[in-house]
Amino acid sequence: MVYDVGIVGAGFGGLAAAAELSRKGLNVLVLEASNELGGSAGKYERERYRFQSGATVGMGFEPGGVFDQLYKNLDLKTPAMKLLNPIMEIHMPDRTIHYYRDRNQWYNEIQRNFPEVSNEIKTFYEEIFKVGEMVDRLVEKLPIFPPKTMRDWLTLPSLMNQESIRLIPFLMQTVEDRLKKYQLHHYHLFKTFLNGELMDSVQTSVDRCPAFLGYAALQTFHKGAYAVHGGLATVAEQLADYIKGCGNEVKLRHPVHLVDKEGGTFRLHTKRKKIYEVKRVILNNSVHNFHDTLSPKLGKHSYIKEQKEMKRESWGAFIIHAGVDQSVFESTDVLYHQFIDPHHPEELHDGGQFLMSLSDPVDQKMAPEGKRSLTISTHTSIRQWWEAEDYNIKKERMKERLIQTVDHYFPGFSNHLDIVLPGTPVTFEKWLRRKQGKVGGYAPKGSYSWLNSYSIRTGIDGVLQCGDTVFPGAGTLGVTLSGLMVAKELTK
Ligand SMILES: Cc1cc2nc3c(=O)[nH]c(=O)nc-3n(C[C@H](O)[C@H](O)[C@H](O)COP(=O)(O)OP(=O)(O)OC[C@H]3O[C@@H](n4cnc5c(N)ncnc54)[C@H](O)[C@@H]3O)c2cc1C
Repeated sequence: MVYDVGIVGAGFGGLAAAAELSRKGLNVLVLEASNELGGSAGKYERERYRFQSGATVGMGFEPGGVFDQLYKNLDLKTPAMKLLNPIMEIHMPDRTIHYYRDRNQWYNEIQRNFPEVSNEIKTFYEEIFKVGEMVDRLVEKLPIFPPKTMRDWLTLPSLMNQESIRLIPFLMQTVEDRLKKYQLHHYHLFKTFLNGELMDSVQTSVDRCPAFLGYAALQTFHKGAYAVHGGLATVAEQLADYIKGCGNEVKLRHPVHLVDKEGGTFRLHTKRKKIYEVKRVILNNSVHNFHDTLSPKLGKHSYIKEQKEMKRESWGAFIIHAGVDQSVFESTDVLYHQFIDPHHPEELHDGGQFLMSLSDPVDQKMAPEGKRSLTISTHTSIRQWWEAEDYNIKKERMKERLIQTVDHYFPGFSNHLDIVLPGTPVTFEKWLRRKQGKVGGYAPKGSYSWLNSYSIRTGIDGVLQCGDTVFPGAGTLGVTLSGLMVAKELTK
């Protein structure tokens, strides 16, 4: 049998593409290496806890949002979830900022925390909301970007209107450039806050973040951030069920170790020398792994060059999964907490700042009675974990640093942990097979870095790609959009 489309990887990008193609009646096969769905936004279970492999904050479920529309198109029921307001608490050495979704509450909080510059920050936020919505409207059209073919170029003029022309300054500046306009660039406290939010959503800091990307990410928090019950893996499970319900296949524990082509048909080689034949291929296992997946004969036709790709900056993640007694967090009903290390508040990664997500106490899928499942994650530079002779010592040290920081803000935390499972980029490579454990896509390096994005096109006829290393980038929202772009392209 020859499938219409074969998909490598059941991350959110691959599953969104497969679900949309299934809806359109194509014959689809998804091959996933691990025994879980959802990749970086998946889960695993241990000792009556469910732990989220990476992503914890759900976006795009608000009316008209990407997942809201996808669920409507697929005629699926959205899972139970909690709308977050405040979205999170940010714990700084001298204060706690309550990051409200509701704009008026957020403006009051700005007034409370940054009274000297509150008017400037509010005006800056008005700009964020306006520009962010313009970016959303543009990306919802699922443009293939950067253009690679004549057809891609020809569709660009159709995207141009008065609104997209108004976006141009924000395509050429960083968030820092915009802060300068409002005289906020020297205001350290607000910049620390913004850096935290941008690191979590765009993987970079204000000085390196293209303004339109930063604005789109920041306003998304205010449209609606959600704690999905059972974790985001619930969404992955629903998509997989939908795909199977359409008569298609999602096979776990099927690592694809080679994609080649013979006689006009692509062949996906998987375990036990099994070969699946497909007419077209979607790669959802990241551009980092592109040349390790394709045969050299196919790979040489691509514009993606291995040496150049390896030079692009990506973060790894250091993560802790743990169970904790309910009693520790009785003083707050906020589920997400960002921590700034009181001793090194200037460090943006490697434990200097990090996010802790707690399971919703009413979500019984996540933890046993009286307990909560938690995920702590901080950006980490990759190389140190692969070169370290003292790997285990380093891992233990980082784990302690993170736990002690939470303990500083929530005294007693460290004494009420049930099970503590730290993970490094080495762990991520094993879990998700992403080369060197690189996660979360590429880190933007300046105002024009978005022009160097990889598009859904690989340059190889019949082979497309989606996921966080492809425009529009990381996050379950971004990768779902790239999955839908691929599906649209294949069903034109
Ligand atoms: C620590 C952390 C926290 C994050 N927090 C958030 C958050 O709160 N909210 C949010 O929206 N996003 C968050 N993200 C980002 C988000 O999780 C990712 O951008 C997104 O899930 C990536 O999806 P993807 O489709 O690119 O594929 P991935 O999630 O990378 O999945 C790829 C899949 O392919 C499989 N695979 C790999 N190689 C092969 C092979 N050879 N054969 C078969 N299968 C293969 C893998 O096992 C995996 O399941 C976070 C990421 C991390 C790491």
